[in-house]
Amino acid sequence: MFDNLSTKLDKAFKTLKGQGSITEINVAATIKEIRRALVDADVNYKVAKEVTDKIKDEAMGRDVLTTVSPGQLMTKIVYDELTQLMGGTKEDVVLKGDPAVILLSGLQGSGKTTFAGKLATFIKKQNRTVLLVACDIYRPAAIDQLKVLGEQVGVEVYSEPDNKNPVEISQNAIAYAKKNNKKVVIIDTAGRLAVDEQMMREIEAVKRAINPSETLFVVDSMTGQDAVNTAKTFNDRLNFDGVVLTKLDGDSRGGAALSIRAVVEKPIKFISTGEKMEALDMFYPERMAQRILG
Ligand code: GDP
Repeated sequence: MFDNLSTKLDKAFKTLKGQGSITEINVAATIKEIRRALVDADVNYKVAKEVTDKIKDEAMGRDVLTTVSPGQLMTKIVYDELTQLMGGTKEDVVLKGDPAVILLSGLQGSGKTTFAGKLATFIKKQNRTVLLVACDIYRPAAIDQLKVLGEQVGVEVYSEPDNKNPVEISQNAIAYAKKNNKKVVIIDTAGRLAVDEQMMREIEAVKRAINPSETLFVVDSMTGQDAVNTAKTFNDRLNFDGVVLTKLDGDSRGGAALSIRAVVEKPIKFISTGEKMEALDMFYPERMAQRILG
């Protein structure tokens, strides 16, 4: 994961090797290389510029210690700044209410339904009862897919195949959960191939009607800057609470992971790293920064 970025950053730090201290002159080339490495990783240009400006200011402000080399000092500064860029600390999903409701949004193919199954597994492990809700009124196959996943992970799936009103389906599902003592409801909504007005209105209406304790936006990390732009569009309409980055196992660049937080100002809460139900992790910015720096 992100191998290219790791290699390029490593090379950038090496330009400081043999230097006795960090000065404006010898740090300039390193900063330029770091910026190029970030842009090559598909990090938004403005974000790459802001973060490298911060790295430079930070480096220039440090007293030169005899115990660390300029290369080591720079590595530490970059680690700190990348961690901050990705949000600083881990952020949990908020499960409030009885039942607590989690609304999933995102484009078709983003990995939303797979994530619904993974999240159900994750919450079930915390000894909470879960109800999955299939709210895609356009693709009967999507309902079947969720049912198969539900069976696989041992979680009941609620659906109303003949109802074409997602607001009603969600409300009925929540009432069903209350009656049947399910503590967490995960609603999988319809995905489209591209953002469209009807889709946005529909999910806005669902959100307004059910007031979920958590609205998550699921996005394919391999789409880089497109992922960031789609996240922004969804957030402008939905004001979601967190991002789920999927397919990180296939993302060799890292642009979405690095820039979504800064551009959208919402935390990444989960990362999905494979098709298996266990391939889900909470997002720890410091661990990701560590991985990038090798
Ligand atoms: P949806 O249309 O958003 O509900 O997307 P799906 O959940 O159906 O996923 C689309 C495809 O991506 C499926 O083939 C999934 O198996 C695959 N997929 C989902 N998440 C991941 C992931 O984290 N890594 C990989 N490699 N594939 C994934």
